[in-house]
Amino acid sequence: MKTYNSLSEVQSDLFDHKISCAALVQQYISRIDEKKNLNAFTEVFEKSAMEKAREVDEKIKSKTQGKLAGMVIALKDNLCYKGHKVSASSKILEGFESLYSATVVERLLAEDAIIIGRCNCDEFAMGSSNETSAFGNVLNPLDITRVPGGSSGGAAAAVAADLCMASLGTDTGGSIRQPASFCGVVGLKPTYGRVSRYGAIAYASSFDQIGPITKNVRDAALIMEVMAGKDEYDSTVSSKPVPEYSKNITSKPAKIRIAYIKDVIESNGLNPEIKAKVYATIEKLKAAGHTVEPVDFPYIDYLVPTYYVLTTAEASSNLARYDGVHYGYRSKNATDLESTYKKSRSEGFGTEVKRRIMLGTFVLSAGYYDAYYSKGQKVRRLLKDKTNDILSKYDFIILPTTPGTAFKFGEHSADPIAMYLEDIFTVQANITGVPAISLPIGKHSNGLPFGIQVMGKPFSEADLFSFSEYLMEL
Ligand code: GLN
Repeated sequence: MKTYNSLSEVQSDLFDHKISCAALVQQYISRIDEKKNLNAFTEVFEKSAMEKAREVDEKIKSKTQGKLAGMVIALKDNLCYKGHKVSASSKILEGFESLYSATVVERLLAEDAIIIGRCNCDEFAMGSSNETSAFGNVLNPLDITRVPGGSSGGAAAAVAADLCMASLGTDTGGSIRQPASFCGVVGLKPTYGRVSRYGAIAYASSFDQIGPITKNVRDAALIMEVMAGKDEYDSTVSSKPVPEYSKNITSKPAKIRIAYIKDVIESNGLNPEIKAKVYATIEKLKAAGHTVEPVDFPYIDYLVPTYYVLTTAEASSNLARYDGVHYGYRSKNATDLESTYKKSRSEGFGTEVKRRIMLGTFVLSAGYYDAYYSKGQKVRRLLKDKTNDILSKYDFIILPTTPGTAFKFGEHSADPIAMYLEDIFTVQANITGVPAISLPIGKHSNGLPFGIQVMGKPFSEADLFSFSEYLMEL
């Protein structure tokens, strides 16, 4: 199979009739089958993907195709697609089929993207290694002894292994950017409120955002311009107009101002080669005439605790709906209403999800609400104000995506705190709502890729894409 690295390469072959969409989809399906060992896909939607491919082929003949014609895309298994199964990689949603499509799915289909299947992820998007999935581990295609990252591990692995052109993930605390970094692809967490969450299975609603995982910046921009924007089904979505991101990308920005948080780059756990790459990038930017300056952000130690207090609180509330009555798994051992709730939830949820529900219930409970949840909200405000303050003086903040490269299976799974610390550099963007992208511009001497992350001002995706393109070429 020919390897396509961008939608424009695919479209050039499609429009020259060198290949049909049907043949393209067939090729991806065969590749998914060949690479079954990666366990990136939970299900391939062969029938609907082939139907859509034939429809797009007809449209191409009559030159009426949408702008994503030929974009073969996979969905993280927490995004609803009407008439298709969705499980959040949890036993508790076994057999559940979506009754409606997520807004993002509707919008992609309307522009003739082809949805090829659903990708394995951490259970309810809780994890950083894909090891919490009820469907087993996803292997990192670049080194199968290592994790692909999480929670959108299957979605990132699928793009890296060329099992699809792009995928959609969700990012609550890094779940798009961290696996993108581990698998050597591009991952964007949009500004909170840029993309509708309607039809995304909720984990922590004030943090969750859907975003693209792609092989290049331009495809991420294209997907974003199609799926972003106002939606009557999600009141948290902004009605700000959506620019045509892909058309506005310039890789030659004017002089820009970039900040870096010294304590972040100097932090203990950061791999020295990643640190060196961030500093080298800073030097290159300076040499090109941009302003790059260190700034203070004395709250690094509060990022991960604030994230885990608030997200577990929201998760405990969001996940209350899985009760063995409304949908999904119901325990066979239940004898009455109460045991239906208790046994269905005890048997249906995995260990990590239960840990978070308990933690979240605890921080919200009467005696501890003020000490944990209220305090967490106050700290969130502080972190947000300080981040916005930096971004009022600079265009971007540059930082690593992850402390290290992809780790081995089991390396952190015995110690939840060690796993949570994997999120140290990614959660700031979710706590504060700003957009952040991970770009595959590093390669470690161990052979594995790593990402560099850029955070921007709220709703500055257009500038973020241009700067990203520039950084990729720098
Ligand atoms: N690793 C983080 C967590 O476990 C982030 C997850 C996410 O972004 N969905 O919560």
